[in-house]
Amino acid sequence: MNQQPYTATPEQEDAIINQAYQDLLNGYLSSNHRKKVEIIDKAFRFARDAHQGIRRRSGEPYILHPIAVATIVSQEIGLGSTSICAALLHDVVEDTDYTVEDIEAQFGKKIAQIVDGLTKISGGIFGEQASAQAENFRKLLLTMGDDIRVVLIKMADRLHNMRTLSSMPPNKQYKIAGETLYIYAPLAHRLGLFAIKTELEDLSFRYEHPEAYARIKEQIAASEAHRNEIFGRFSAPIRERLDRMGLTYEFQARVKSCYSIWKKMEKKHIPFEEVYDLYAARIVFECPVEADEKRICWNIYSEITDLYRLHPDRVRDWISTPKVNGYRALHITVMGPDGNWVEVQIRSRRMDDIAERGFAAHWKYKIGEGEEESELEVWLQTIEDILKNPEPNAIDFLDTIKLNLFASEIVVFTPRGEMITLPVDASVLDLAFTLHTEIGTHCIAGKVNHKLVPLSHKLSSGDQVEVLTSQSQQPKPEWEKFLVTAKGKTRLRQVLKHNRRIVVERGDNRLRTFLTEQGVPINNETLTRIINNERVSGKDELFFLIGNDEIALSEQLLKGIKPQSQGLFNKILRNPFGGKNRTEAEGTTSPAEAIDTKKVYVLTSTDGGTSNYTLGDCCHPIPGDDVVGYVNENNEVVVHKLDCPTAMLLKSSYGSRLVQTRWDTKSQKFLASIHVEGIDRMGILQEIIYLISTNMAINMRRLNISADEGLFKCDLDVLIEDTHVVTNLCKRIKKVPGVNTASRIN
Ligand code: MN
Repeated sequence: MNQQPYTATPEQEDAIINQAYQDLLNGYLSSNHRKKVEIIDKAFRFARDAHQGIRRRSGEPYILHPIAVATIVSQEIGLGSTSICAALLHDVVEDTDYTVEDIEAQFGKKIAQIVDGLTKISGGIFGEQASAQAENFRKLLLTMGDDIRVVLIKMADRLHNMRTLSSMPPNKQYKIAGETLYIYAPLAHRLGLFAIKTELEDLSFRYEHPEAYARIKEQIAASEAHRNEIFGRFSAPIRERLDRMGLTYEFQARVKSCYSIWKKMEKKHIPFEEVYDLYAARIVFECPVEADEKRICWNIYSEITDLYRLHPDRVRDWISTPKVNGYRALHITVMGPDGNWVEVQIRSRRMDDIAERGFAAHWKYKIGEGEEESELEVWLQTIEDILKNPEPNAIDFLDTIKLNLFASEIVVFTPRGEMITLPVDASVLDLAFTLHTEIGTHCIAGKVNHKLVPLSHKLSSGDQVEVLTSQSQQPKPEWEKFLVTAKGKTRLRQVLKHNRRIVVERGDNRLRTFLTEQGVPINNETLTRIINNERVSGKDELFFLIGNDEIALSEQLLKGIKPQSQGLFNKILRNPFGGKNRTEAEGTTSPAEAIDTKKVYVLTSTDGGTSNYTLGDCCHPIPGDDVVGYVNENNEVVVHKLDCPTAMLLKSSYGSRLVQTRWDTKSQKFLASIHVEGIDRMGILQEIIYLISTNMAINMRRLNISADEGLFKCDLDVLIEDTHVVTNLCKRIKKVPGVNTASRIN
């Protein structure tokens, strides 16, 4: 990942800049956009002069960055001159003395608006504070509604920053890589920018897990010859048929990205060799007449299934119902010559273009009313809906949006045949809230394909669904468990919050009346004492519980507040320090020495069990894991695995509190849990235990076995020094006859 130190004479630099710009122009001139070189030329000269003398962290002249962004915008996203100009100018307002008005005077309103949008969301989506984070993210999404080109150019900006990330200091790298994986890659996915999404994921992965990345790259290369041989045998008879059909086509094996291979290995706890769907076969055929596309796809399907056995559950028809991001193709899975399932993706050239380049490609092919566009609009509308009702909790808000970005879809039908797209795992309740907040809050059950189901019932694609409501139904907080749509969650929380507010007000009024009757002054001191006595979290909670009849208004409530009514008993029993006083607890941070986040922090521990760090209780890292340290409010280093969801959040929101860490090699032993499954046979457990304790001399701490109908499951905790030992141990346990899987679990 290291770059050469940058050295160039001013003349060489000019030549490099001119060459980069010429490449940009040549690419643009060979596209099928209208040729508006003059304005691009003007934008280039304006930006070059504005950034004159400024350098990037790598030492390069700054202008190379906007040129690179413009090149991505033009050649990888496929946008035209307006976007190219905006990309060239995207950092001018942010970094120089020029204003948006200057840009408008020189380049007109449209370009100025886009540059303005880009300036507003610069400096990262996430700020130092969680609330600023949500606010900036909100801005980004809002600009998307104004002009989607802002987000597309931002995407190109991020891609170039990721490609040149090696010149950043490590803690910045974590922050940027984390943020990219957290929000930009899903956003690229949602916008249908598949190639960019894949590259962003792979780049983030490479910075977060350099060793795993290198290993997988190597393994892909090492297995190439074998893969080609198998694919050759698989594809030859298909090619024969396609030739006979008279098609012009490309037929290739496409290896999955390093990141998705790694994700699969982690999720299924399998080594590289066991990832059977390492590649997909893709047929892209030329088809000048759009109306013929669907028929040709199904003809190819029929030819292939004549040759190979079809996996009946894995036919994906995204031609009749395209994905919300516009993706269209026919995917099938058939049994290959080596006995492994092979996915075959069948698409026309047009579909392929859209799949790789997303909505930008749509514009290229747009003829009249495109229905994909209206689907994008539906999605933008959902985002807008959420934005109109922002959650007070910024993290919740981000999660809600993210849910919406990641989801893959199912399609269901209303009784009137209306088609509604929902994320996978959506429930009857999700559908109800999607239709209308009123329907959601009064939903009691559903009828799926004419059968009565509870409101928590998960829908499947193709279901016909009727929502049943009742006016007496009241929404409940537990419902959130049944919701996966951002819209449903937001709407439910809103209704609950509204209902809660009514109860809180009622409680507030009741308490005031009661205190007046009792002759107790209504002031903060009284309230604080009641709150402490009742051990509730605050005023709001107190009023809510009173309003809900969960705290009774009796003399008991005033113990220690109204002395004359207090019996001897109460005096003795009352805890003088009852309840925690929150305001005192806050703000008392220990004055320990500050941790320098610019240095690598060494994680050490002594045999006595004390260590200079705490482990994240979400992911339980052990020495050897790729980890990152987070300096909390008490100046303690909390260690998380790099891919732990909490760490992802910390990385993207508190970049400046992160510290790069290294395990001290003399570290203490750690507890790791291993899960083993297999076929039960006499003596198998003795063999496993013997292997662990005698052969490998590993200390076992816990063993839990269950056997059922000839299968056994076994969970064991072992004390080890680092991850390699666990990996090794799992490998060896797997070799015991009868054992099916053995893997580390969290
Ligand atoms: Mn930039």
